[in-house]
Amino acid sequence: MTKALEAGVAASGLPVGEAKVVMQIIRERDQTLRRRKLNKVIGEIRCECCVTKGEAYQGLQQKTPKEQIFEIHHLIPISRHDGAKITDLDEVALLCANCHRAIHTFPNDQMPSVDEFRQQLQKKSE
Ligand SMILES: [Zn+2]
Ligand SMILES: [Zn+2]
Repeated sequence: MTKALEAGVAASGLPVGEAKVVMQIIRERDQTLRRRKLNKVIGEIRCECCVTKGEAYQGLQQKTPKEQIFEIHHLIPISRHDGAKITDLDEVALLCANCHRAIHTFPNDQMPSVDEFRQQLQKKSE
């Protein structure tokens, strides 16, 4: 894949920047990690950036539509990890798919923190 990225187009046919966003998000879709994070939420899930809410179902393995809105976001970009690292629950945030997508439009080295991004969103909606 590195060669394809170097050539300017990823194997997916998406432009490189877009492909990187998609790849990062796919790598973050570790369902076990997600499940563990969701199991820590009691009752209402809230996007850590915006007002989107959903419900967490304790310990349930089954996927529910209200949970599917939420994705795991690594506070430290995965590309800076050395693959083998086991992620701690406090190293990830739960974001709604919209915010997650939006935060990944920043290049990794310019990606705002979840707090910064939330502030940016609040400013723009005033
Ligand atoms: Zn959100
Ligand atoms: Zn993310």
